[in-house]
Formats: sequence, C-alpha cells, structure tokens
Amino acid sequence: MYLKSIFLGCLSFALTSLHAQDRTGFIHATMQENHAVELFHQFPQLIDIIESKNQLSAVYIHPDATHELHQKILSHGPGFIFHPDKQQAIQALDQPVGKWMNVTNYTLSESSFVYKAIDDVKADRIKEVMLILENFGTRFHTDPKANLAVQKVKELWEELIAISGRTDIHVRIINHVNTPMKSVVLTIDGNEKADEYVIIGGHLDSTAPDKTNAPGSDDNASGIATITEVIRVLLSHDFMPQRTTEFMAYAAEEIGLVGSKEIATTYKNQEKNVIAYVQFDMTNYQGSVEDIFITTDSYNNNDLNLYLIDLMETYNKTGKHALTYNYTKCNYGCSDHHSWAQKGYPTAFPFEASFSESSPYIHTASDRFTIVGHADHAAKFSKLGLEFVIEAAKTSNKMSLTNIHYKNQAKFYNDNQFLTIQLTNQSKVHTIKVIDAAGFTHLSKEYLASTKLDIRSLKSGFYIAILTDQLGETFTHKFRVY
Ligand SMILES: [Zn+2]
Repeated sequence: MYLKSIFLGCLSFALTSLHAQDRTGFIHATMQENHAVELFHQFPQLIDIIESKNQLSAVYIHPDATHELHQKILSHGPGFIFHPDKQQAIQALDQPVGKWMNVTNYTLSESSFVYKAIDDVKADRIKEVMLILENFGTRFHTDPKANLAVQKVKELWEELIAISGRTDIHVRIINHVNTPMKSVVLTIDGNEKADEYVIIGGHLDSTAPDKTNAPGSDDNASGIATITEVIRVLLSHDFMPQRTTEFMAYAAEEIGLVGSKEIATTYKNQEKNVIAYVQFDMTNYQGSVEDIFITTDSYNNNDLNLYLIDLMETYNKTGKHALTYNYTKCNYGCSDHHSWAQKGYPTAFPFEASFSESSPYIHTASDRFTIVGHADHAAKFSKLGLEFVIEAAKTSNKMSLTNIHYKNQAKFYNDNQFLTIQLTNQSKVHTIKVIDAAGFTHLSKEYLASTKLDIRSLKSGFYIAILTDQLGETFTHKFRVY
C-alpha cells in the first residue's frame, strides 16, 4: 500500500503539472497494445497511441506513465522499448520476435568441469559486489554515479583477469547514442569456434521515483554480482572455451532497454552469430517456493529453455547443489534479452521467483541488500550460469570430453513411436516423465516394466524425458517428435 501511494502521488503530480500540449520528457516507445490502451484510458494526458499492429502499439509516452505500467500491469519493467524517433517506433511494430536465425544443437559433455566449478560458487563474493553497487546510492542512467559504477565493474572484472594471469581476456567499455551511461563487456575469445558467441548479460542501471536514491540491490546489482561470480569461478579454473564467451553489464535498461538494444543491433549488423543468450535480472529475492523460474514468453527460445531445464535436471537434482524450478511469464520489453530476441538471437531469462511473487521493493529506495541479508539465492543463479556457459561454450581442453561417465549410464533411442531406454548400470527405470519447454507434462510413468515408452500420443516438437532409476540417479534426454 505504501508503495502504491508513492506511485499514485507521483502520477497525480505529473497529471496536474502537464498541459495537453506540453510534451517535455515524452519518448517514443513500443509496448503491448492492451497495455497501451489501458494506460490511455487511465492517463490520456501521459500517452498518445500512434499506431497499433500485431498486438503492439507505437506510443509517445511520458516516463511517469511507465511507472504505472510497471506497477499495475507488469511485475517487472520496463514493459516497453525505447525508440529514438516516431518512424523507428512504427517500424518496430513489424519486427518479428521469436524468429530465430540459428538452430544449435545444445549438448551436455562437460560434467567434470561443471561440478568443479559449481563447487566453488561463494554467496559472500556475490554479496560483496552487490553492496559495492548499492553503495553508489543511485545508478540512474543520467546520474554521473551511473558511470562511476560502470568504471567500478570494469575494474572488478579486470582485477579477476589480473589474478588469473590471463592475457587473452579483455574488458571493453561501450558508448551509447541514446544514454550518457556506458555498458561494460568482458570477452573470452573462443579457441575453436571463435565466431560463435555465448553471452550472459544483465543491466547495471537502476531507477526509483527519486532518481538520486535508487539503490537497485535486487534490480539489478544482484544480476551483475551473479555474473561477476561466474567470471571469477571460470577464471580461477582457467576456462578456455571453444566458443567466444561474453559477459555484459548494460546501460539504461530501465528507460526502455536502451543499452542492450544498441549492442544487439551492432551484433546483428556485424552478422555476429550469437548461439545462446541468457539474461540475469533480479536473482536474489526468493519470493516463491521454487528456486529458479524459467520465463516462457513466446520471444524466448524453447530449445534454450529446454537446455536450462536439462542443465538443472542434470546438475541440480540432488545433493548440495540441488534446486527446484518452475515457470512464469514476463511480457513485452521485460528485460534486455528482449533486445536480443528481437534481432533473431535465441534467448532465455531465468528469474528469481514467479513474477507475481518477485521482489516488491524494486524501483524504490527500499531495494536494499538488507531486505534479504545474504546472497544465497543469487548463488543458485551463478551455478546455473556456470553450467550454461561451460556446456554451451564447451572447454577446448579435449581431456574434459573423456570424462562423461555420468551421462553414459543411460541411453535413449527414439523411433518416433517408442522411446527406448537402456540403462548401462544394470538399474531399472523408477520414474519417467516427458515435458515440453513450457513445463507441461505429457507423459508420466512409474516402475516402467518394459524399456520402451510409448510416445505415439505426442505431437511434433521438442521434449525432454526425465528419468530416475532405482538408485535415485536422474538422466535427461532431449528428443524431437516429427
Ligand atoms: Zn531489472
């Protein structure tokens, strides 16, 4: 209630101070058509709907209305994408989202390295970085403190490189056209497939009604600290990827995905082949029962979502790294991965909770580390980040490829009618279920008597079979039904 009154207060100020003709501070943006219409009904002075198409609207909007969009319509903002002018906003209505350029066969083969890496994740290191970023007071994109934070992240990452003694890893600063804030990118060149990119990103900026008091701890110091821990662990294990691996901290997400949009556009224009993009935005508030929420918005890539599920089923099912997952939705313009999806790259966005149960403190002066007081939840995302990077980018050290005993114990054969299972460890199938990328269970069997699972009821598409044997070991297998 307290939070709502802040936003309503802020809006009524805007409403009384704006004349119909006064368009100071208005920006061009695109958003879901139903959101634009709802905003127009509530605040006609704060939004003009220019054109609607494909369930999207190009709008001319005052940023105060976007607070309302964040609070009332979405659980996580901004919920819109900034465009520098009217023409580009209208053009964006035609951009297909969810038409991926690449089809990559994501595989698992790096288990020994993954286990060593996730053993090393330290919540206290994540906490340290979160506090450093929160202590800037604000990282709002036009505040000079935002670029001090950019400089600090660059230094932190360079320090990790220096400790590793590596000379083949570089950090660069990226200047933007539509914000004074800069972005930071760390690159580990691929040893074998340098032209293929695996990327994890998150935004470094923050926002709140009072732009000078926007600590942005969960949103999104947590994501940047989670990424920094992934980098630290990878470098401490001398990670040499086959594919080029990059980590990005973006400028100005909160005002319409500005930094990521410019970078994704550059990558597309340079025809860079990003085979997988994962976003970390809000990782430390455990608002739901389950740990990690896979977002199933249509612009995310089903294959990549299945890959994250496969990773969690393989590495996080039992033992000290065990975690649970579930599914949620985030809507249009939800975070920076949308910028990459719009350029045709496969994206996924694992999130801290279901959207209705995620941190209620974000975009306020109360988004502080003390709300949670530790970084145990974010540490789970660092583990998933390590699993993703190591498996998607692959180590170029061939030795690690020979160490796959874990995956060798179960073999699956699919002839489009039956999924035949062979367990090489003499064990029997205890349970088996088949799910799709949205988490829907299509088949589920216990004590499967034969080694064949009838899959004739499945429609064409990709699925994951999750099998537990009598010894409690879990195996996953992605397959396609034609
Ligand atoms: Zn955010």
